[in-house]
Amino acid sequence: MKTIGMLGGMSWESTASYYKALNEGVKKSLGGLHSAKVCMYSVDFDEIEKLQHQGDWGETAKILSKAAVSVEAGGADFLLICTNTMHKVEKEIASQISIPILHIADATAERLQRENIKRVGLLGTQFTMEQDFYKGRITDSYNIEVLIPDSEERKVVHDVIYSELCLGKIVDSSRNKYLEIIESLYAKGAEAIILGCTEIALLVQQQHTSVPLYDTTEIHAEEAVKLAVSSGSE
Ligand code: GLU
Repeated sequence: MKTIGMLGGMSWESTASYYKALNEGVKKSLGGLHSAKVCMYSVDFDEIEKLQHQGDWGETAKILSKAAVSVEAGGADFLLICTNTMHKVEKEIASQISIPILHIADATAERLQRENIKRVGLLGTQFTMEQDFYKGRITDSYNIEVLIPDSEERKVVHDVIYSELCLGKIVDSSRNKYLEIIESLYAKGAEAIILGCTEIALLVQQQHTSVPLYDTTEIHAEEAVKLAVSSGSE
């Protein structure tokens, strides 16, 4: 079994979901007492969040690259960056390590493509919804159209992530706001919604809506398990 490298802590609330999903996935695949081989570096999210909102992505890239080098040195065979947003600096991180990165947008878009989704709504941080590093990759490499909420709705989605979900607060009224935004994207033609922030599934799950949801944490972890148990390095 390959060792899964994780850059975690962004936030740790969702890293906990990843850790559980990876272990459950390996147990399901190999049975018995099998569990995932994991090497994780978990950062202090306060530091990362401040730099994000100051626009100092260069410094975040330095912190995460250093962490990724440690994860590789710890024996990881490939790396998961356990947040959608920080894929903004994926290329900088990749340039500092020799193990491959399993990109969260690729894992998600491949799933959408297999399920023949051609137009999808995206929820995430404002960075993820508004900039090109994420939705551009999905459109350019997979020919899937990405719809985003309007600017007021994007602010709601973003604020709930940083002031509630990353602090472990699950608020019913916020879930209702998210569900309205999901409905409005669906009404605009989205066939499904990408939960493009690793904490969103803590708030909204498939049981809350009939609009198909694609949870990036779950998909990323499932693809990591497939890769980890596939033949290759031990
Ligand atoms: N976990 C979130 C994401 O998937 C947001 C936190 C962050 O900024 O990394 O984008």
